[in-house]
Amino acid sequence: MADTARNAPIQESVSDLDEINARLEGRAPEEVLTWATQRFAPDVILTCSFQHDGVALAHMLTTIAPWVPIVFLNTGFHFPETLDYRDEIVSRFGLKLREVGPSMPRDEFAQRHGLDLYRRNPDLCCQINKVEPLRAALEGVKCWMNGRRRDQATTRGAIAIVERYEGGIHKVNPMAAWTAADTYRYMQEHSIPQHPLFEKGYASIGCAPCTRPILAGEDERAGRWSGTGKTECGIHTLLKPA
Ligand code: SF4
Repeated sequence: MADTARNAPIQESVSDLDEINARLEGRAPEEVLTWATQRFAPDVILTCSFQHDGVALAHMLTTIAPWVPIVFLNTGFHFPETLDYRDEIVSRFGLKLREVGPSMPRDEFAQRHGLDLYRRNPDLCCQINKVEPLRAALEGVKCWMNGRRRDQATTRGAIAIVERYEGGIHKVNPMAAWTAADTYRYMQEHSIPQHPLFEKGYASIGCAPCTRPILAGEDERAGRWSGTGKTECGIHTLLKPA
């Protein structure tokens, strides 16, 4: 994309969401990031769990809008490999990382709920360790960018590029129309290292107790909360559509 396009001020209203989505559909993620960061600056964040889509977006932001905070929800249950990968990517890209975690201290969580709460009540575990920390991190935010793709799961098949929620928050999904292959190609073209568990069959990587490698033919997110019927942690259903 030309620098002139990247630097052009955006004065438009976001009142006509349908028109904006029609215009942004089919555009490269870099163009969507440019629109969102210019339209909502400075109240913009990117959430990144250091899976490949979020990492690719964080890499794009290093040239488009390096001031955007990269928010990492540290549940305390991540794989050590994820934390090492986070550190490597943050150092390599010089990211402005904002790590957020649960307000309940880990000792209190263990005493009140047990560290195996994920087995007995994964929804409550996610609520305490992911949803509530993100709710706090969204205070004052007007634009929440993230790396969801439509091809990740049937439940994500209809996400729009821009979604509007109560409180005036706009969730922006620059990768909505990309496939896993598109992200892989971007990583290769920019010599970005992959998450070390990816090669071991982990196509979608969340907390260690709730993630397994996928089998041939399974959906990308089939290894998340496998066998429980749970498909989302709750952070993407936390906000009510406006
Ligand atoms: S993904 Fe599992 S371990 Fe992580 S917060 Fe949710 S239930 Fe707890």
